[in-house]
Amino acid sequence: MNKRFENKIAVITGGCRGIGKAIARRYAMEGARIFALDYVIPDGSEPFFDNTIGNTIDNSGINSQVTCIQCDVTDGESVRNAFAEVVDAAGRIDILVNNAGITRDGLLMRMSESDWDSVISTNLKGAFNCTKAVCRTMMSQRQGRIINMGSVVGSMGNAGQSNYSASKAGLIGLTKSTAKELAGRNILVNLIAPGYVRTPMTDKLTEGQREIFLSVIPLKRAAEPEDIANVAAFLASDDSSYITGQVFHVDGGMLM
Ligand code: NDP
Repeated sequence: MNKRFENKIAVITGGCRGIGKAIARRYAMEGARIFALDYVIPDGSEPFFDNTIGNTIDNSGINSQVTCIQCDVTDGESVRNAFAEVVDAAGRIDILVNNAGITRDGLLMRMSESDWDSVISTNLKGAFNCTKAVCRTMMSQRQGRIINMGSVVGSMGNAGQSNYSASKAGLIGLTKSTAKELAGRNILVNLIAPGYVRTPMTDKLTEGQREIFLSVIPLKRAAEPEDIANVAAFLASDDSSYITGQVFHVDGGMLM
């Protein structure tokens, strides 16, 4: 495994499980020090990486590279405190992955205002809060990578997910605008739009819903979180140094 992220500091929101944890693991394997910001953080009784993912990797030594910080991305003060803690501990931030996200599905005509608000607040305002909190640090470094986690439904729409699709479409606008604002300081901002990924979020789907998803995926399988982590690694690496403001659909061909 390459060590492309040696001496790099990465902050990943929603980094304690699902896609965020797979990204944390991949960055750690390549040498980064990780700060996983999450609503609920592990109690520390078990190693953060359990070695069930990517079983050819020697797990020893990478757990020590992870610090979990409790943070609610919807709350500006909680976010500012968490980023201050990271900068105090590590002195810099090279990579931010705005990954924390929730769903509160339902048809629009029956959707409550609070289900609308909490999805927009977590998925869209959360990314705004964290991008704002990291900006000054990255600007003074004249270097940084920001990766926003969108979704294929941000481009396609999805019945029953008007709040979620709107939040993910909003993230595309946020990505392109911040990419333009920050390019002069060599901060690159891109968005990954996954399709259907096997995580605790999608464990909630019924067998019928799963079959519907699989029927529209040309590659005929759900993504594993590692499929998304591969692209997050590319977007944080020097291999993507001429790419900013772009949307990367990682969806097995769902949107084409
Ligand atoms: P999970 O639900 O498995 O993980 C999301 C993480 O975000 C959880 O640890 C959750 O914490 C955390 N989180 C939620 N709200 C907040 C908050 N206010 N502050 C801090 N952390 C919070 O989801 P996935 O790993 O599946 O999804 C990760 C991202 O990928 C999301 O943005 C999602 O929208 C996106 N995505 C996922 C797809 C999929 O098929 N799984 C497809 C397309 C996009 P807690 O559980 O404690 O609330």
